[in-house]
Amino acid sequence: MIELPETYVLADQLNEACKGKTITNAEANSSPHSFAWYTGDPAEYGVKLTGKTVTAANPGTGYSCGGNTELICGDMLLVMSTPIKYHAPGDKLPPKHQLLLAFDDGSHLTCTVQMWGVMLCLPTERQDWPDGFTVRKSPTPLEDAFDEAYFNGLWSGVKKSISVKAFLATEQRIPGLGNGVLQDILFNVGVNPRVKLNALTEKDRENLFRSVKETLAAMTLQGGRDTERDLYGCPGGYQTILSAKTLNNPCPSCGAKIKREAYMGGNIYYCPVCQPL
Ligand SMILES: [Zn+2]
Repeated sequence: MIELPETYVLADQLNEACKGKTITNAEANSSPHSFAWYTGDPAEYGVKLTGKTVTAANPGTGYSCGGNTELICGDMLLVMSTPIKYHAPGDKLPPKHQLLLAFDDGSHLTCTVQMWGVMLCLPTERQDWPDGFTVRKSPTPLEDAFDEAYFNGLWSGVKKSISVKAFLATEQRIPGLGNGVLQDILFNVGVNPRVKLNALTEKDRENLFRSVKETLAAMTLQGGRDTERDLYGCPGGYQTILSAKTLNNPCPSCGAKIKREAYMGGNIYYCPVCQPL
């Protein structure tokens, strides 16, 4: 799954690379994948998309599964949760892909599913479009509407016996906030991912709210995380504090050895000293 900072980066790059280009061919499911989801028959994507001009790209906001990128192609909307790659005219295309768009200038986009992924293709008119072609169920932490009152509302809506990881990064409660970005959000406030909400103070909750906003903003402003790749295959400029990349480094704050454990579908990373249980 692509997480929130990277969908913002992808949308920006797609706007730059593809806006105004017309699709001359579209192929979906050319390398069948068990966990690739399409709308209707993927064989019809060519008919649905050929001749359509890209007018905009947006970061997704949980329209389907959270952490999506949306591409508006004339009267059709593509919603993609997979990595997306741009190929300049003449570039070699990957041998396997689950969605390919060819443009009138000879450039291409490809989507390749990792684990699972959606590549939905729907008529835009079927959506309830607010201004700016944005499909949204809920505000993202990068928007002003995601304020402390909104965050506290999410908090009130859950049992306090769940862990902070379950609260922030499951159930699509905050679309696009997944296990990847979670690690630094929690490190920045010294909270262990397994800690239960009822063990946190009001101050902890305020700090968590701020860290969700500020950590995601930093990741986005710096072009995504260094563990992820952008539209051009380049890693992002945000240096992750806690990730597979930094596992063997000492804690940047106290020097202790970082721990990695499987917890709730995904590895968690934490400093046992700065983020005690
Ligand atoms: Zn530490």
